Amino acid sequence: MIEAHGLSKDYGNGRGCRGITLTVGTGEAFGFLGPNGAGKSTFVKMLVGLIRPTGGHATIMGEPIGSIEARRHIGYLPELYRYQEWLSGAEVVQLHAKLCGIGPAVAAKRVPELLDRVGIGLRGRDRVKHYSKGMQQRLGLACAIVNDPKLVFLDEPASALDPIGRMEVRNLLHELRKQGTTIFLNSHLLEDVELLCDRVALLNNGNILQTGTVSDVLQEK
Ligand code: ADP
Ligand code: ADP
Repeated sequence: MIEAHGLSKDYGNGRGCRGITLTVGTGEAFGFLGPNGAGKSTFVKMLVGLIRPTGGHATIMGEPIGSIEARRHIGYLPELYRYQEWLSGAEVVQLHAKLCGIGPAVAAKRVPELLDRVGIGLRGRDRVKHYSKGMQQRLGLACAIVNDPKLVFLDEPASALDPIGRMEVRNLLHELRKQGTTIFLNSHLLEDVELLCDRVALLNNGNILQTGTVSDVLQEK
């Protein structure tokens, strides 16, 4: 699903990602674990085509990253998502559906289903400017999966959530997995990845220190 070979981003200040090589298989839930500033967001931004690598290469389902073909397979929840605050939650998801080329008839059915699934439900009628951080994160998740992607990148999806919100997001990700969606999860918290992920990579200072199952990685530490 994901193959990265020596993927690098040099911001010119000694920061970024240094030659990251990893493979993520279809249907896998992969955790990318590391402290703030380790380079997790940078790596994901390269894979979704938002920033151009300065070295190495990678493919998603065999398509080069940054290509339209690769992007079609991807859902992405950025760490900081800025919404059109004057829109309602439902309108934001509708807008995303439209941008993904989903027709109005299909969207009319899918948008309320998605809002229910992420626990927004009827509050989808409220304007986003009245949403809490947790509600905004759920909305981001709804947008990330509106096109039914094969692969979803989530950048610290639980960081703004209270324990109940975390649990709900976790359940939702478990459900996504059961449907065969491949998940790539960035987090600085072990507890966020250990319950969901089959394999993890430990990242520090732009380098992978270790890759393995959660228990492998824990035993080494
Ligand atoms: P993480 O997601 O693990 O917190 P990031 O990928 O956001 O890490 O950042 C990795 C490092 O690169 C950090 O030290 C960050 O300050 C730096 N960085 C991120 N974006 C830029 C940029 N546009 N220019 C220069 N440095 C950056
Ligand atoms: P994220 O973890 O989502 O990348 P950050 O807070 O690290 O968010 O970065 C926010 C924005 O600032 C991004 O566009 C990032 O590229 C940029 N940025 C982060 N660190 C630096 C830095 N040291 N110098 C310049 N730009 C940076």
